[in-house]
Amino acid sequence: LEPKEEFEHNSLAVDVMRPRRADPALAVLTQEGMTVGEVESTHYSGFPVVVSQESQRLVGFVLRRDLLISIDNARQRQEGVVSASQVVFTEHAPSQAPDAPPPLRLRGILDLSPFTVTDHTPMDITVDIFRKLGLRQCLVTHNGRLLGIITKKDILKHMAQIANRDPDSILFN
Ligand code: ADP
Repeated sequence: LEPKEEFEHNSLAVDVMRPRRADPALAVLTQEGMTVGEVESTHYSGFPVVVSQESQRLVGFVLRRDLLISIDNARQRQEGVVSASQVVFTEHAPSQAPDAPPPLRLRGILDLSPFTVTDHTPMDITVDIFRKLGLRQCLVTHNGRLLGIITKKDILKHMAQIANRDPDSILFN
């Protein structure tokens, strides 16, 4: 996203975000109730963290890299972390069965105010914000409900597609 590349096209955030209509739902983590094993078996670079699958209310955003580093660190410090340990992003410790392994508390690695646009935000504005804030991804909402994600690579692919289809509509000056 070089600053000199002007992006002038009338597409909207909803045209660029993932998942697309036919894709599986956005992969989110819940603020409690997931295990270290479940978190380790994910494969996107980052995840919105939500209150619950039902509410989809946004708590923050976490990078997969930070999750893996924290899990590794906890294992090395021998904090009793196993695959069945609960990962918790809440402020307070969760209630757990007395024989459950201790939870791994990771609120510290959450971005509590991830950048968000609405589905109808024009992409030229979104691209401008990506550049100015140096974003790698942003979340997309509709009426406050979490809908999708746009990564920097999604934007670059979208720009390339437009340039192929319709080279006059995008200016690389
Ligand atoms: P990149 O776009 O840099 O390859 P990712 O590996 O995170 O980064 O994303 C790969 C694709 O999956 C992108 O099109 C992105 O929009 C989408 N994506 C990223 N995170 C999620 C997620 N949590 N749930 C669903 N799709 C995602």
